[in-house]
Amino acid sequence: MSGNASILSRLPFDEKLIYIDGEWTTSQASQTCRVENPDTAETIATVPECNAQDLDHAVKAAYTAFHDGPWVNEYSGSQRRDALLALATAIEESRQDIEELESLNTGKPISDVRVELDDTIDLFRFFAGYADKVEGRHIAAQTNRNLEGYTVKVPVGVVGFINAFNYPICLLAWKVAPALAAGCTIVFKPGPQTPLTTQYFAHLLHKTGKFPRGVFNVVLGGVGVGQALVDHDLVDKIGFTGSVATGKQVIQSTASTRNVRCTSVELGGKSPGVVMPDADLDKTAKLVVSGCMANAGMNCNALTRLWVHRSIYDEFMPRIKAAAEALVLRTPQDGATEMGPLIDKRQYDRVLEYIRIGREEDRAALLTGGQPALGRGYWIQPTVFFNVSPTARIATEEIFGPVLSVLEPFDSLDEVIEIERKNEFGLAAGIFTRRHQDIAKFTRKLRSGTIWVNNYNALYSYLPFGGFRNSGFGRELGYESFDGYLVPKSIIDDISY
Ligand code: NAD
Repeated sequence: MSGNASILSRLPFDEKLIYIDGEWTTSQASQTCRVENPDTAETIATVPECNAQDLDHAVKAAYTAFHDGPWVNEYSGSQRRDALLALATAIEESRQDIEELESLNTGKPISDVRVELDDTIDLFRFFAGYADKVEGRHIAAQTNRNLEGYTVKVPVGVVGFINAFNYPICLLAWKVAPALAAGCTIVFKPGPQTPLTTQYFAHLLHKTGKFPRGVFNVVLGGVGVGQALVDHDLVDKIGFTGSVATGKQVIQSTASTRNVRCTSVELGGKSPGVVMPDADLDKTAKLVVSGCMANAGMNCNALTRLWVHRSIYDEFMPRIKAAAEALVLRTPQDGATEMGPLIDKRQYDRVLEYIRIGREEDRAALLTGGQPALGRGYWIQPTVFFNVSPTARIATEEIFGPVLSVLEPFDSLDEVIEIERKNEFGLAAGIFTRRHQDIAKFTRKLRSGTIWVNNYNALYSYLPFGGFRNSGFGRELGYESFDGYLVPKSIIDDISY
């Protein structure tokens, strides 16, 4: 039996079970979802498609845990810290199982999944460190010396999380680790395509024995259960990651429920990169291609709009072509694989449609790729267009696939900054140069949540991540995300009374 077959045969949950109120419980739903391996398009598991009853059960469990349970009302910050540290260790001890499962369910290269697991474990340890450092402020009374004013920070309450499919275990950690550290309770819904590592995570959390019942609950499914979570009146905050269209619906819905609630939305991107005349062309070509093609381009911050200075344009194109064609596309579980397939048929069809649009509607020149790959599953070749108009559809719409648009050559950085000001998105950007003035101008003027200088895609637990404009609002990672799960209360005490 191969390692992969063995993890699927050893799953600690079955097709009817969901984790609610501290136990594996049978879903009330009659519907199930098929879970695929995108490498082959074969079904590898089945999970429940939760219904309104399951959702209500999960939210009420989180609500009771928040208002009456020990996690919020009895545990000290250091007990919550220790619970998160124990969870990090449990993930570390089972990381091989999680890596196999994640790679099978997403088609990601196993080497990338290992990095994702390193980050996941680090995130739980990083946010554990904040759990015992919730601080308020004392404010000296301005008008009446007998009044003491101070703030205390309290957890925001029940948080409903809705995730995208593209980094299932790592994006779970981005959300769950700071929210648990802040003392919130959670109902978590993963992307419908990728539920398996969320289920496995629930199993590990349960096994630690450190999280009281109702603190972490899972619902599975798509639009229906996601919408029901957003609409549920007992939810205090929604943390959403996904497309702009769904994000806008979520914002509208959270404003229409009986109680308005805080929302954080992490949405799409169309991130520009700029190659200046002094850039190291060999190094930069590789950085640009991995910046775009990492996770088969299903990356919110993928570098998809590339600006190359006119003076180096013709020299640079062959390097980009060579770097794209050198990417190794093999079975995701092969350690040498550098790029995997798209997640499902819908995403595969969408990417092929954008390649058609690039050729036929945008009339862009194809440098390389443009075809399905490997003759199975949802594979598409790394694809690069060049001489693309900055207003072309392939240069402005999020494709979420391995498609890079090299724009028409530019002459001045000011011109680039002026055009990028109108970019619908503002999630990330990159610049490749050693000229200090250009770096300063770009990083100061560009309204982007993350700007990489001479590198791309590096993210750290301690640096906030999020967007401007249609890339959303709120921040994940860093102290900022932890603070987003806390709210201040002002206390005014008359000490002369
Ligand atoms: P999507 O919008 O289709 O789905 C996202 C999640 O929302 C899924 O769990 C889905 O089931 C759920 N959902 C769908 N309709 C809903 C509704 N009406 N109410 C509540 N929930 C609903 O996005 P996707 O295809 O899963 O993910 C790709 C998108 O996510 C891309 O646009 C990408 O840029 C974005 N993304 C952003 C970040 C970030 O941090 N900014 C990170 C990863 C992905």
